[in-house]
Parts: sequence; structure tokens; C-alpha cells
Amino acid sequence: MINLSRRIKELKSSPTLAFDAKVKRMKKEGIDVVNLTAGEPDFSTPDFIKTAAKAAIDDNFSYYTPVSGYEDLRAAIAQKLLLENNIKYDPTEIIVGVGSKQILYLAFQALCEKGDEVIIPIPTWSTYIEQVKLTGAKPVLVKLNSPFKLKAQDIQKHLTAKTKAILFNSPSNPTGAVIDKKELMVIADLAVKKNIFIITDEVYEKIIFQGKHVSIASLNSKIKEQTMTINGFSKAYAMTGWRVGYGAGPKKVIDVMSALTSQMTSSTSSISQRAALAALSCPKKEIDKMVGEFKKRREFVAEELAKIVQISFTKPEGAFYFFINIKKLLGRKYKTSDDWTITLLEKGKVGLIPGDAFCYPGYVRMSFAASINNLKKGLERIKKFINEN
Ligand code: PLP
Repeated sequence: MINLSRRIKELKSSPTLAFDAKVKRMKKEGIDVVNLTAGEPDFSTPDFIKTAAKAAIDDNFSYYTPVSGYEDLRAAIAQKLLLENNIKYDPTEIIVGVGSKQILYLAFQALCEKGDEVIIPIPTWSTYIEQVKLTGAKPVLVKLNSPFKLKAQDIQKHLTAKTKAILFNSPSNPTGAVIDKKELMVIADLAVKKNIFIITDEVYEKIIFQGKHVSIASLNSKIKEQTMTINGFSKAYAMTGWRVGYGAGPKKVIDVMSALTSQMTSSTSSISQRAALAALSCPKKEIDKMVGEFKKRREFVAEELAKIVQISFTKPEGAFYFFINIKKLLGRKYKTSDDWTITLLEKGKVGLIPGDAFCYPGYVRMSFAASINNLKKGLERIKKFINEN
């Protein structure tokens, strides 16, 4: 008999990836399913990025890279953070890794341990919770209500002597909510006063439909000293499969994250890093084009969803998800959003992610990283399913 570690026995694998895999399997079997589960842009990686990767292969970028990532890539990330986010980092305060997911893992491992508490607002992407648990620390889930915009007072109520870090993600997966600058300033003051570390996941920063993304580390030098700013290339440049993410923060923490990854994966692929370097010179109009397309889809979905009287939602300010309240559809035939989503998939042939996957039952997440045609087809099927059930 194989005895797995207790730590691993308690680990829950990613429910969003599992659901997405199920939908993809059905499609492969020839079933006509509309997949609105996707957590990735449905666009191809821009050609100039692919060209840079091909050149990297020809130019023999085939050797191990520095553990924290190529120096020129880290320098370019430092430049990006200065120009776009107004935060001044030295390249030695930056680490490149296998997607922002790995960077998050490294950050939690570097900072947290048994006895610590990490504040995580919900609804949330489940990875944070599992990664915090893997350190031995306790995730403290802070429930937000619609429109799901984190406020300092939500955090304040849950602070204890054990609070080590606060994690937030703006724009948010799954709600698309963006934390207001004014609120970020209060959160920053609170974190500085109580000496609590901030881990900010900014992977959706470029996919924003109103206002402007603000990085908490840009607010003042004190909060910068206790913040890990995490970002990546997956969402902004349609590069999910290339696996490149980065973290920027105090050198003391970055060095430990680097030591950990040196014993783990080393950095990410050399070719992906060259592609990421090219991505950072992406003309703004390419990004604007993609965001413009998402914006059109967002308008379309919002209009169609508004016609379904049994559900409610807040229009997302960023990212590419609608987080929809389906509580009025539950109770009789379907007890939970999990049941409802599974039956919608099996009978209605539309894939959504149940709110349960984000610690928020009673809701479903619909991705609009899909063509207008697919969104239209999916929404028609959802309406039909609701009417017939
Ligand atoms: N952070 C959030 C909020 C996400 O939704 C995702 C992916 O779905 C990630 C991070 C992971 O991104 P990456 O591909 O950079 O690991």
C-alpha cells in the first residue's frame, strides 16, 4: 500500500482545470458542446512573438538559463513595471518563473508557515487557497458581496496577531471586479501599520474596460517594501501555454524564491523567455485590439444575460468573466450550483464553472473568451435550458 503524505492527501486539484478538461473531452468525443469555461484568451499568440521564439531556437537559446530568468528579460520587466505601473524595481528584485502560478507558489512558500494566517477574499481562484495550505498556513476566507470589490474594512474584521499576508487579485477571477485606488490606499496604510505582507496578482491588469489598473506597490515606498507584485504573459499576450510569469518584490524574498526554484524547476523554458522578451515590446494597438474585442463581447453577453429574469450579475470591470447569481434557479430540481452546472453541461451542452469552485456556491462563472458566435449559441442554449428546467 502506498502511503501518500498528509499534506498531499489534503490537496484539491484545480476544479476549473478539471471542468475545462471535461468539456474538452466531450468535444473530442464529437459532442457539440459550447465551452464557456476557458480561463485563457481564445486568440493566437501574436506573430511577432512567435517569430522571436523561432529565432531563439535558431540562435541556440537551448541552454539552462539563470535560475531567476535571463537578465535582459528581468531588465525589460523592470522597465515595464516602471513605465506602466509606476514602480521602480531593480532587476535583482525580479524573478521569472513557470507562469504566475509558480511565482505565487514560491511567494507563499517563502513567506508563510504553520501558525500563519493569509487573508483571501472570496469568491476566489482556488489555487491561492491550496497553495497557502501547502505551506502549513491557514487561509482565512473573507466573504465579499456583489459587486465583490474588496474594501479595507473587509480585511480589518479578520486581522489577528497571526495574519501574515493578504492576497488579492484585481481585476478579479472570477468576478472581474477592480479594487478602487482609494481603497487600495487604505489597505496599504493598514498593511504598513500592522506589518502585513501583500501579495497582489495582477495577471488581468491589461484586460480592463473602465478606469485604469493601479498597482498597490506604486502607492508609496513603505508598502512597496512589503509587497510582492505578481504578473505574467498568459492573459495579456495570449501566451498561456508558454508558461512565463514573474514576481517583483523585496530582494530578500526574491532571493529565497530563487533558491527554492533552483531546487525545483529552475527557470522556465529559454525559448519562452525569449518570446516573453519580445512580448514586452508589443505595440499598444495589439493589446487595445484584443481588449476592444473583449469589450464588444462583454456588452453582448451583458445584454443577453439581462433578458434572463431568474439570474442577476454585475458587469465585470476587467478580466473576461461574468459571475452570475443563479440562486433563484436552485432549490427544487437542483440543490447546488454544482448540480445545475453539471446538468447544463450534460443536457444543455454548455460548459460553465460552478461558483463552488471559487468558494462561492449559488453562482456560475461564464467566460467570454469565446467568439461572439459561440457566446450567442451558448446563451441561447442556457436560456432554453432554464426555460425547460
Ligand atoms: N492568476 C489568476 C487570477 C488566474 O486566473 C490565472 C489563470 O487562470 C493565473 C493566475 C495563472 O496564470 P499563469 O498562466 O501565468 O500561471
